[in-house]
Amino acid sequence: MASATLSTSDDYDGDYDFDDDFNEDEENLNDSSQTTFNDTMDYSHRNISTLDVNDLFNSVKNPNRITNFQLNSNMLLTVPSQIEHFRSIITLELSNNQLIQLPSEISLLENLKNLYLKNNALDDFSLPKEFEQLKQLEVINLGGNRLKQFPYQLFQISSLKEIYLGSNQITFLPDLFQTLNKVEILYLGGNQIGNVPDSIGFMRSLVVLNLSGNRLRTLPRSISYLNRLKSLSLHNNQFSALPPDIIRLDLQELSLRNNPLVVRFVRDLTYAVPTLKELAARTIKLHRVPYNDGTLPRSLVGYLNAAKSCLNPKCKGVYFESYHKNIKFVDFCGKFYLPLLQFLCSPACTSTPTFEMTSSDSDDTEEIPTKDMTNKFKKVLLG
Ligand SMILES: [Zn+2]
Repeated sequence: MASATLSTSDDYDGDYDFDDDFNEDEENLNDSSQTTFNDTMDYSHRNISTLDVNDLFNSVKNPNRITNFQLNSNMLLTVPSQIEHFRSIITLELSNNQLIQLPSEISLLENLKNLYLKNNALDDFSLPKEFEQLKQLEVINLGGNRLKQFPYQLFQISSLKEIYLGSNQITFLPDLFQTLNKVEILYLGGNQIGNVPDSIGFMRSLVVLNLSGNRLRTLPRSISYLNRLKSLSLHNNQFSALPPDIIRLDLQELSLRNNPLVVRFVRDLTYAVPTLKELAARTIKLHRVPYNDGTLPRSLVGYLNAAKSCLNPKCKGVYFESYHKNIKFVDFCGKFYLPLLQFLCSPACTSTPTFEMTSSDSDDTEEIPTKDMTNKFKKVLLG
């Protein structure tokens, strides 16, 4: 499934429910007319509002062989507790119902690996506390529900590989993600999340991370520890810059559109005029005027020795306390451009007209200066 999601982040603009329909389609091909076929029981799309599971259990030929129970697209408000009789269920599909509650008996389905609960009315009190006993659970889809918190039970299920929580109302992520070190796909698009905790960096199996459509301004530096990450979706947020460490990631896909990456950031860039001391020191360094302990007080020698080279490769100047911050778009593995900070000796020293990048809303990559940065520049940014 990871490969199916990799190429599709753009398709979810405005629709943050990650869609598991491609699963259903695949299975329906084998089972379009019959209710029970091999190990699958298909009661989807039937307007069912109440379900007599005991009846069902007695009418099915081999109830203990049922591994796939499809109840999606009905009108269920809850799941009968007798569901526990189907102990062999591996996949339980309950998306597109009106569920407000799950019974604690669901946690007795000890073989359950895939649980689809997309587009229901589940809130922070709907999952039973026993839910964390589902120690085989690998995939959970809770997209399109009414969650205001990341369900705390999920932090106790270390078998999880895919978590879909798109289109809820989650505002805060607790710093507890270190237990979820098998998760490959974490989908959190379309919430109101304002923070990404450091522990996300412990999710070492993560391949796809979708944080689009939230209220994020920054990412923790620990994001650079995610060395398997291939797809990072950050569009429709409040990012004004990214941590330089992000360039270490081996990403195949990064979406940044609809962030105030440049506009707001440039507005905040103020340049403090250098002091006369700094101007004199800059001149001494630029013209290589000799100095030593004998000609200058030791404190001034120390000051002069602390000069930092301007990062414009065409400028031979230095700066001390006064520098000009600038946004530089860095060519990232030839695939896309990242906005990173650079420090220059003065506002007049911009090497490329990066300030002409006025619209961060645009997807037109043609606007982005294509000039590659020098190795020196790259090294400093990464250091
Ligand atoms: Zn300069």
